[in-house]
Amino acid sequence: MTSLDDLPLRDDLRGREPYGAPQLDVPVALNTNENPYPPSERLVKALGEAVMDVAGSLNRYPDRDAAALRADLAAFLCADTPGAGLTGRNVWAANGSNEIIQQILQAFGGHGRTALGFEPSYSMHPTITRVTGTGWIDAHRAEDFGLEPERAVAAIEEHRPDVVFLTSPNNPTGTALPLDAIEAALDAAPGMVVVDEAYGEFRRAGTPSALSLLPGNPRLIVTRTMSKAFAMAGTRLGYLAADPAVVDALLLVRLPYHLSAVTQAVARTAVAHGEELLGTVDALRRERDALVAWLRGEGLTVADSDANFVLFGTFPDRRRVWEGLLERGVLIREVGPPEWLRVSVGTPAETAAFRTALKEIL
Ligand SMILES: *Cc1c(COP(=O)(O)O)cnc(C)c1O
Repeated sequence: MTSLDDLPLRDDLRGREPYGAPQLDVPVALNTNENPYPPSERLVKALGEAVMDVAGSLNRYPDRDAAALRADLAAFLCADTPGAGLTGRNVWAANGSNEIIQQILQAFGGHGRTALGFEPSYSMHPTITRVTGTGWIDAHRAEDFGLEPERAVAAIEEHRPDVVFLTSPNNPTGTALPLDAIEAALDAAPGMVVVDEAYGEFRRAGTPSALSLLPGNPRLIVTRTMSKAFAMAGTRLGYLAADPAVVDALLLVRLPYHLSAVTQAVARTAVAHGEELLGTVDALRRERDALVAWLRGEGLTVADSDANFVLFGTFPDRRRVWEGLLERGVLIREVGPPEWLRVSVGTPAETAAFRTALKEIL
């Protein structure tokens, strides 16, 4: 049997593990922060019709620049943050925001360059960084998982990275960043600042999006995704908002026709039904707040969350708790600082199953 060691693999990939959130067939999957509500029958029909409409021309390449989809997404973002004044020229789309992040690093990172993030945070930031040959620098959040402007500035001034990642609300902690921390990072950073807002739609009322900082800040990139609040993880559609010059940079590295005609049609249909898709966000927020209160009531430590998941602990042996839940049909995520676990907010029935199982283990 040939093993990886027998192949002339890049030296810097030796010993690395692939991304591996377990995909197990369990009754209650609360491990990858998806929206638990499937599309309505009406939307399923609309999605089917949209695919039918493009099916007859699948012999042709799709619109390479996805212009119509980008205009739709810009209009959606303008409704989210009216002051941002965005048009399709400010927006870029790809197969999940992970591909967006990869394109950003291909354009602004690379050999001899570095990217910096504040741990604990999203594990794909360092992974994609390294795969693009960019050096990764670990900086750290405060004890309560917050990030004060002084802390952000100190790390950026010490390392002078080419790309800074700020995740807000942060995964896996749920922590939202105040705008002054993002502004301070932008002032201090010599290069690009990427604010990953994968969970932006779940943020609490009154918490502004970094989209509002885009005018006059050509080194700022805000990334979003349809995989979380938008309830379309299977579509694989991520996007960003930035200065049009940033989009020009990404055009240099994107693969031709990277976004299939089917993806573009499905994503446009999803945006057109945005109100329905985002209609579950309020219920998920309430479910999240109730879950935080319940976990605290059980005597556990819980990070404040502006997202659709909750980080809780602390367990000297978190593996035992994770396995105990799995034995009871509930899959959550072993991620973050060593003694913590993360659970996604599900339907009321799923969250109830999680509570029952956890109580038995505790
Ligand atoms: C889930 C997640 C993403 C991305 O996902 P895609 O499905 O690739 O759009 C990006 N950033 C963070 C912080 C996430 O948690």
